[in-house]
Amino acid sequence: MQEIVDRIFCKRPYAFKTHDATRLHYDLRLEWNGVLLSWAVPVGPSLVAEEVREAIEMEDHRAENILFEGVHETGTIMLWDRGAWAPQPGFEDVEDSLRNGLLQFTLYGEKLGGGWTLSRIRNAKDMTRPVWSLHKQGDLFARESSDICVLEEFPNSISSGKPLEKITLDWPIPKQRHEGQVSLFDARS
Ligand code: MN
Repeated sequence: MQEIVDRIFCKRPYAFKTHDATRLHYDLRLEWNGVLLSWAVPVGPSLVAEEVREAIEMEDHRAENILFEGVHETGTIMLWDRGAWAPQPGFEDVEDSLRNGLLQFTLYGEKLGGGWTLSRIRNAKDMTRPVWSLHKQGDLFARESSDICVLEEFPNSISSGKPLEKITLDWPIPKQRHEGQVSLFDARS
């Protein structure tokens, strides 16, 4: 039954990762047509509708990595939030929305919910990647700017409950780590 409901509302897997790379950032992943549409969000999402976050468009990632948590060669990756997403009415043609630079969607995550907007703000020729803005729409899931930041309220992994440091510490020894990476990631990761 849930599967039928999900299909009617066009719900697809969603994840937000915390990535301790050269610079700590967050990675938004929206599954679509077998790949993960990907944006790097330097300061992470905000539930305050007025707070617009920069989201840098990245190449599509492999869908099977959506729930990965562990030590990647680029740094430790935490599964910060997971759930489903769906394009909002008028944005169901996701390829067209991406081409037009405006995607309005709903998140059904464990930490993030409600309506969100991704809007392309510039695509300068001298820039390697298009930059988008990400912001929460004003609805029941939105918070006041005086409320606690969702990143501070729920900093740990949604799957293991661990903070970044613990995920790094608990990861297998380097040799196994390398073998694990070879099977989990390809050149695009
Ligand atoms: Mn990343």
